[in-house]
Amino acid sequence: MRLAHHKARICFSYCFSLRFSSTISPLPFVATTSDAQILKCALDDRKTSLNLKEVLRIHAKIVKFGFGMDSTLVSRLLINYIECGHLHFARSLLGEIRFPNFDLITNNKLISSFMKNKDVETAKKVFLDMLFKDVVSWNSLIGGYVKNSRYEEAIGLFKDMCLSNIEPDEFTFSSVIAGCAGLGVLDHALWIHGLLIDKRIVLNDILLSAIIDMYAKCGKIDIAKEIFHGCRSRKISVWNSMITGLAAHGLASDAISVFCQMEEENILPDSITFLGVLTACSRCGLVAQGQKYFDIMRRQYCIEPELEHYGAMVDLFGRAGQLDEAYATISAMPMYPDLVIWKTLLSACRTYKNVELGEFVTRNISCLDSGDYVLLSNTYCSLNRWTISANMRENMRREGIYKDHGKSWIELAGNIHYFKAGSRAHPEIEAIDKILKQLIKRAKLEGFVAATELVLMDVTEEEKEENLNFHSEKLALAFGVLKTSPRREIQILKNLRICYDCHSWFKIISIMLRRVIIVRDCVRFHKFEAGSCSCGDYW
Ligand code: ZN
Ligand code: ZN
Repeated sequence: MRLAHHKARICFSYCFSLRFSSTISPLPFVATTSDAQILKCALDDRKTSLNLKEVLRIHAKIVKFGFGMDSTLVSRLLINYIECGHLHFARSLLGEIRFPNFDLITNNKLISSFMKNKDVETAKKVFLDMLFKDVVSWNSLIGGYVKNSRYEEAIGLFKDMCLSNIEPDEFTFSSVIAGCAGLGVLDHALWIHGLLIDKRIVLNDILLSAIIDMYAKCGKIDIAKEIFHGCRSRKISVWNSMITGLAAHGLASDAISVFCQMEEENILPDSITFLGVLTACSRCGLVAQGQKYFDIMRRQYCIEPELEHYGAMVDLFGRAGQLDEAYATISAMPMYPDLVIWKTLLSACRTYKNVELGEFVTRNISCLDSGDYVLLSNTYCSLNRWTISANMRENMRREGIYKDHGKSWIELAGNIHYFKAGSRAHPEIEAIDKILKQLIKRAKLEGFVAATELVLMDVTEEEKEENLNFHSEKLALAFGVLKTSPRREIQILKNLRICYDCHSWFKIISIMLRRVIIVRDCVRFHKFEAGSCSCGDYW
């Protein structure tokens, strides 16, 4: 019996090369042969044979006895948990290990695995606990921040990296460039581009397309064009960045001419190219052109449209008020429409005040999220159907669904300032308030009338107007006016779409202040100049 027990321990030690550390609990961990087999199966065969109940039993044993496990085994168990989506078990095991002592490759793998599974905080903890970091460690965290849309943290970490003695490589740059693009911060973009030149980093296709995308998203489409035209050899990703950038600026004819140039140079377009062209057409109301390219894509280039292409077509018809065609596109799709497509149609229903179709669309959405409730509730509100809207909002509150709040930001002298609708958190809010009130007063004298029907609450007209006055983009603009010299261009970024009221107000402000005001909302750029907007009021 004693011999059998001894053999079992040897077997376990052999299988996993266990190493007992000096920091372990005095109680010994007694692994049975079956424990060893179960862990081996779980780790070798991944999801197919993972018997979670059994693995957790061994996990509990490890934790209970303070077992100084071999770091390779622990790391394999951790990564297995993460890849199988059992993040809480991974976090728990990681929390229990006093001295993980993982090697560099394991730590880097843990960072990217946690990031891939959207557990940013644990990835950051692994990074901070590392005694030695290499360029891959920094890249894993910076890239992870970008993939999780935490752009400012990515840029912040890149700055820390520059102060450390680790040299950024082309992967670091492509991530941080994407971070600048996500935030749309031009000062940072120029700084990063300058660093690339200083460090003599060769601009490969990935970097080139990232830089073109960055300048386009920072509002400098001319710089993006200049870089694009200066490229000697252009791979498909570079063409795609240019077309997508032009689409975001509402420059549909330019996007189409880039596409034609591609054809002339015998560059085969791919599905991303067509998505860019279709988006450009939808943003500018070029319905016939959009239909033509959707057709060419299939017939001439044998590219089967994906969900996103159908989404672009629904958007094309929906924005143009052709709601029946939009719905017919959804009906003709070979795959199930996703939430984004239904939302696109629902948004068009709201714009064109088609409550019936809106209700139908909502019923068709099998899995509702906050956006759909909000959109439908807004559709009812804009038609003054307060009771239904109020009931919907009550349901949302009960179910814990909240609207994504409007947030705008502005970059000044390399610093990013954030504003939330109605928030008084900014340290200079008193001065901002003063400027904003002056601008509102002057705009009224110029004949501006607030679009109070957009305030989705059953309150008095005055209260509605007050509500509109403190939209985040207006606060950001007032701050820009406060901090910049007269006539200087002001660029504002917003996480949601700009509302109709702010859109009209910015047009008047651009005349009053004789300034160019650029707003990048979540869909496109709006350049307000001398009383009109580059979107031609079609957005
Ligand atoms: Zn607004
Ligand atoms: Zn506009």
